[in-house]
Amino acid sequence: MIRTLTGAFLGSAMAVSTLLAGVGTAAADGEVNVYSLRQPFLIEPLLKAFTDKTGIKTNVVFAKDGVVERMKAEGANSPADVILTVDIGRLNDAVEAGVVQPVASKTLEANIPASFRDPEGRWFALTQRARLIYASKDRVKPGEITSYEELADPKWKGRICTRSGKHDYNVALLAAMIAHHGEAKAEEWLKGLKANLARKAQGNDRGQVKAVMEGECDLAIGNNYYYGAMLANPEQKPWADSVNLVFPTIAGSKDTHVNVSGIAMTKSAPNRDNALKLMEFLSSPEAQEIYASANFEYPVNPTVAWSPEVAAWGKFTPDSLPLSAIAELRNAAVKMVDRVGYDG
Ligand code: FE
Repeated sequence: MIRTLTGAFLGSAMAVSTLLAGVGTAAADGEVNVYSLRQPFLIEPLLKAFTDKTGIKTNVVFAKDGVVERMKAEGANSPADVILTVDIGRLNDAVEAGVVQPVASKTLEANIPASFRDPEGRWFALTQRARLIYASKDRVKPGEITSYEELADPKWKGRICTRSGKHDYNVALLAAMIAHHGEAKAEEWLKGLKANLARKAQGNDRGQVKAVMEGECDLAIGNNYYYGAMLANPEQKPWADSVNLVFPTIAGSKDTHVNVSGIAMTKSAPNRDNALKLMEFLSSPEAQEIYASANFEYPVNPTVAWSPEVAAWGKFTPDSLPLSAIAELRNAAVKMVDRVGYDG
């Protein structure tokens, strides 16, 4: 079944990787099939550690998009056991498409705080990422902006750059604003932010930081791990060097908005027991350490320390608003982005 699947996916420009267990153990201990929207450099070391520990072989399909569509097309015959993806929006899409099943596990519940998992066990977060303000070192004084709410202050008119309001990361942030402030206030905020844009919303998170370096804007909104990615890239390091990181607070709290990457068990999972073992392993301290630090993210397991490099960028408390509340308000947020004409 995996071979057939492999052929189909290769035909649509997806990469396939099979990580084999030590000789002689794989057949006895079985396998688990992973559809991953997360990149090979992140996932392969984790799956290798899992196989080394359990003897369970892993088969991975790496995709850039379309996993839920693929699962729907495959239906009950899908060989996938688990889906790995970024963003609460995509985890929620998988739930709404009916391609995942609820999982009850004392281990998962012990390792992952309640706000970082679906109350019904249909998805579990594995890493968290903070949505930050990147502020020009030259033109924004430290402490001059400390909250998301202040992004709507007219003092920043013509000074802010963001990607599309409809991108998952901005939709989740707006959904969090709606959850904290209610629709009316959140919409007022979005209008204020839109009025402060230096240019039409465009590009990706890193592109906004580049625009700060080039003087086009003074503030950008972006996920924290892009800071690490830019520092590690000789061409982009000057972009990162031009900004200070601000961990903004939300709604008068001391908390910062976070999004997640996570995992869900598929409805049709043919290797259910092994899938559960993989999910539990990925939430364990051993895996959480590798998982979060490989992409400059934060572990969800509170017993695991942040990687020293990421910790050096600043401390923050994640917003305690359950991600499931954000998932529920995503549609309202997308409609608001349209009403305000944020991308226009
Ligand atoms: Fe990203």
